[in-house]
Amino acid sequence: MASFPIIYNTYKFECTMCGNCCSGPQEVNLDLLDLWKLGKFLGLKSTNILFEKSLVKLVLNENKVWIPQIRFKQKPLRICPFLMNEKSDDGEMKGVCQLHPNHKPLICAISPVGRIVDLDLEQEEFVLVPPASDCAGMESSKFNYIQNTKDHYSEEFINQMRFFRLLTHLKNYTHTEQIFYKLLYVFDLQSPFPEILNLIESKVFAKK
Ligand code: SF4
Ligand code: SF4
Repeated sequence: MASFPIIYNTYKFECTMCGNCCSGPQEVNLDLLDLWKLGKFLGLKSTNILFEKSLVKLVLNENKVWIPQIRFKQKPLRICPFLMNEKSDDGEMKGVCQLHPNHKPLICAISPVGRIVDLDLEQEEFVLVPPASDCAGMESSKFNYIQNTKDHYSEEFINQMRFFRLLTHLKNYTHTEQIFYKLLYVFDLQSPFPEILNLIESKVFAKK
């Protein structure tokens, strides 16, 4: 299933906060909970503002489903709009994520761990994906335990799995961007996320 090294138990990594993985060719895919967290961080009432303000865009991925992605700023550099530079105590510039720790997209929060899910087989694998080609964190000798990631993000992984099921179901019904947008990605941010997810599932799974 995986083309990156599978993490069975531990992996070596420690982020130096250089910010390289938040700029350049990187892409940050979002799931439904990520959209909810982003909207909450910005104090929005509905997720449609994320798209209208061009912070998030929809892209057609290799599985032929429309998924949300953070729209990186293009000038003067391609860079995530949520990356800030801050001076550390020793005077060095650090790349700091404004969304850290409570509103960070799952894909960024678990990096360099990547989660690969096989919905048919109900299986998952955790793989080591260098966050950027020049990521200094990959040179570290600090050990990390994959079980800690699994435990810490267990709820988010369940939500992500439910999102993948929605995508798979919708793909059999339509390939139209507008329908993905309306059925999955525009929702009110006043309600708790579990209610929103239940509502989206009831709408999407009603489509045959
Ligand atoms: S490129 Fe690596 S070291 Fe730099 S911020 Fe990203 S994860 Fe951390
Ligand atoms: S959301 Fe945060 S961690 Fe992810 S790319 Fe943007 S600045 Fe980097």
